[in-house]
Amino acid sequence: MTATIGERLAEARVNVARAAKVSGRDPGQVQLVAVSKTHPPEALQEAMEAGQFLFGESRVQEARAKIPLLPARGRWHFIGHLQKNKIRAALPLFEQFHSVDSWETAEQFDRIAQEESQRPNVLLEVNVAGEASKYGFSPEGLVARIEKLMALHRLEIAGLMTIAPFHPEAEHSRPYFAQLRELRDRLEREAGIGLPQLSMGMSGDYLVAIEEGATAVRVGSAIFGTRKGKQWTPPAGLD
Ligand SMILES: *Cc1c(COP(=O)(O)O)cnc(C)c1O
Repeated sequence: MTATIGERLAEARVNVARAAKVSGRDPGQVQLVAVSKTHPPEALQEAMEAGQFLFGESRVQEARAKIPLLPARGRWHFIGHLQKNKIRAALPLFEQFHSVDSWETAEQFDRIAQEESQRPNVLLEVNVAGEASKYGFSPEGLVARIEKLMALHRLEIAGLMTIAPFHPEAEHSRPYFAQLRELRDRLEREAGIGLPQLSMGMSGDYLVAIEEGATAVRVGSAIFGTRKGKQWTPPAGLD
């Protein structure tokens, strides 16, 4: 793959717009989150020069080192597993947290947000396929907990997020995305709440996700290329 980040971004945008149109939706209602985890600030700078300002990061430490090195126009979403001891540091960095994945994390997040006078915007992560390797509420667990979650007044709960099981065929992800949408519809109906946002779809399956109702897709390798390391760390002296 010799295309530049700018070219791959342009291609992703065209794909997003086409998938939105095909499914009768306004392309403006699908956010493209460029997943920049593990990539150095220079790669993000290149994306910014191509007009991309919304980024997804999955480690608090890495984001905390990277964000100050980039122009202030950057907007940051947290998409990884949020460790309880990182919540306080993460709060001021991100405009949305896609991955509140347990009752304990939600409760702690609410408490810390209260102490810090913040109202974080969050999505609840659902482990639709019930994979042992993944974090997230089970669908039934979420139904059982939703009223208590909505009573955590410091959290602005805007919707749901999922990661489909890995599979080389995008179509394999479709039932999981459909299930997340149906779960959202059920929660809205039964609990009388609004959960407008659905964060689903990655490089391999974001078109299918948009067809199933995604309002945010999290696209990493299709924009930045394959990830080599586990995380980016600042050069010595810059910490
Ligand atoms: C890394 C990651 C992505 C991006 O994955 P790609 O396959 O590189 O697009 C999306 N969502 C989450 C939660 C991730 O951790």
